[in-house]
Amino acid sequence: MKNVAIIGAGVAGYTAAIELSSHFRVTLFEKSLTGGTCVNRGCIPVKYFVYRRDQINEITKANQVLKNDLVPEIDMKKLQSDKNNKTEKIRKSINSNLKKSKIELVESNVTISGKKIITEVKTYEPDIIIVATGSIPVSHDIFDIEPKAPVSENSTKFLNIDKIPSTLAVIGGGYIGIELASIFSSFGSKVTVFERGDRILPGFEKASSKSLEFRLKRSGLKFIKNADVKKIHKTGALTYIDKNGNSIATESFEHVLISIGRNANTVQGLDVQTTDKNYIKVDNNFKTSADGIYAIGDIIGPPFFAHRASRQAMLLSWYLKGEDISDKDDSLIPEVVFTEPELAKIGLDEDELKQKGIEFKSYKIPYGVLGKSIILDENGQLKLLTDTNGKILGCIIIGKSSSELVGYMSIAIYKGMNINELKDITMPHPTLSELFLEIGLRY
Ligand SMILES: Cc1cc2nc3c(=O)[nH]c(=O)nc-3n(C[C@H](O)[C@H](O)[C@H](O)COP(=O)(O)OP(=O)(O)OC[C@H]3O[C@@H](n4cnc5c(N)ncnc54)[C@H](O)[C@@H]3O)c2cc1C
Repeated sequence: MKNVAIIGAGVAGYTAAIELSSHFRVTLFEKSLTGGTCVNRGCIPVKYFVYRRDQINEITKANQVLKNDLVPEIDMKKLQSDKNNKTEKIRKSINSNLKKSKIELVESNVTISGKKIITEVKTYEPDIIIVATGSIPVSHDIFDIEPKAPVSENSTKFLNIDKIPSTLAVIGGGYIGIELASIFSSFGSKVTVFERGDRILPGFEKASSKSLEFRLKRSGLKFIKNADVKKIHKTGALTYIDKNGNSIATESFEHVLISIGRNANTVQGLDVQTTDKNYIKVDNNFKTSADGIYAIGDIIGPPFFAHRASRQAMLLSWYLKGEDISDKDDSLIPEVVFTEPELAKIGLDEDELKQKGIEFKSYKIPYGVLGKSIILDENGQLKLLTDTNGKILGCIIIGKSSSELVGYMSIAIYKGMNINELKDITMPHPTLSELFLEIGLRY
C-alpha cells in the first residue's frame, strides 16, 4: 500500500484524507486545529453569527404583531461560548471520522525538503504529497496603525470580539467584510464600510453588487468607496485618500475591522512553480510542477470557498485511486454572500458572459410574484441567464434563502437544462422554490 502525506487538515486536507484512506496509508499533518479555516475561523463561526443575526431580524419583524415590542439584545459572552461549543463539536466529529478511517494525524508544523516531510521529531518519505495549507489573511502592515488603536487586524481576531461596538469601521468590501458588516449592523453597531475600489464585491457582476449595496444601505449600512485607507488612529478614526487624491480624516469608530483579503499559506522548503501571488500552480489533475506532489484548496488560488476545496479534494482522490476524471472539474461552484438579504450566484454572470463574448438572454422574476414572499414580507429577484436556445448558463439571486435556492440551479446547469423545462417541475406551495416554476412558465 502506498503512503500519502497530506499537509493541512482543513476542508481540502481532511476530505482528501478520508476519501483516500480506502486505498492508501494516509498521514495528515496539522500545525493548529483540525477543520482549518472553515471550522475554526471562517464559514462555521461566521454562519453561526449569521444564524443569530437572522433570528434578531425575525424578532424585529415579529414586533409588527406582538402586543409588546421585544427588544433583542445580544449577550456577547453567551454568543461566543455557544459559537465555540459548536465549532468544537464539529472538530470532534472530524477527528472521530479521521480515527474511524485509520488516518494518522500528526499535530505538528512541517517543512519540506525535496519529497521529504520534516517535523520536529521525525522525517517522513511518502510516495505522494498533497499540499492543502490554505490561505491566511493579508498582513495589516500596509496600514499605519497607532499603538492602542481599537483594531482587529483580521477576521480571525474579530470573530472572538467580546463586545458589540457602538460604531464599527470595516476596511474592505469583499465578501467576508460585507458579511461581518451586515451581521454587526443587525447586532446593533452603526457600520461604515471603506472600500478602495468603486464598488463592493468585485467578484460579482456589477449590477448585482450595486443592487446588494443599495439594499444594505437601506438597512442602515454606510459605504465609503474609492477610499484608500492609510492610517488607523488610536481614537479609532481613519485617514484615507479619496479618488481625487485628498486626504480625509474620519470620525472616531469604537472598533475597526481590517478585512482586505487573503494570501497563500506556503510551506517552507516546497520547491514548485507558483503564480506571481505565490499560489501553487497545478494542472487539471492538481499535480504541481514536482513529481508526486499535488495541491488543492485555497493554496491553489481564489475563489476561496470551502465547497470548492472539498470538490478539488474529491477530484484529486478519485484521480489518485485510478478513476478517470477527465470529464469532471471544479468550475461549477456556487458563490454566496450571507448578507441580509443574501446574494447567490452559480455559473456565469452577465459580466462574465460579455467578457467571454457569449451571446445570452437574461430573464428576471421578482420575489413579489409568490404568495410565500408576501407572507414573509420579502422582496428580491431571481435572474436566469441562458444561451440563445434557452440552455441555462447562470443564475443570480438576491433575496431571502438565496443560498439554499441557488443549489437547484447547480443541478439544472450540471444537467444542461433549458429554461423551458423548469415549468414541468412542480415545486411545493407555498415556498420560494416556486420562483423556478414561475420563471419557467413565463418564458
Ligand atoms: C471569515 C471567513 C468566512 C468564510 N466563509 C465561508 C463560507 O461561508 N462558505 C465557504 O464556502 N467558504 C468560506 N470561507 C472560505 C473557506 O473557509 C476556505 O475556502 C476553506 O476553509 C479553505 O480550505 P483549505 O483546506 O484549502 O484551507 P484551510 O482551511 O486554511 O486549511 C489549511 C490548514 O493547513 C494547516 N497548515 C498550514 N501550513 C501548515 C504546515 N506547514 N504544517 C502543518 N499544517 C499546516 C493550517 O493550520 C490549516 O489548518 C470563509 C473564510 C473566512 C476567512
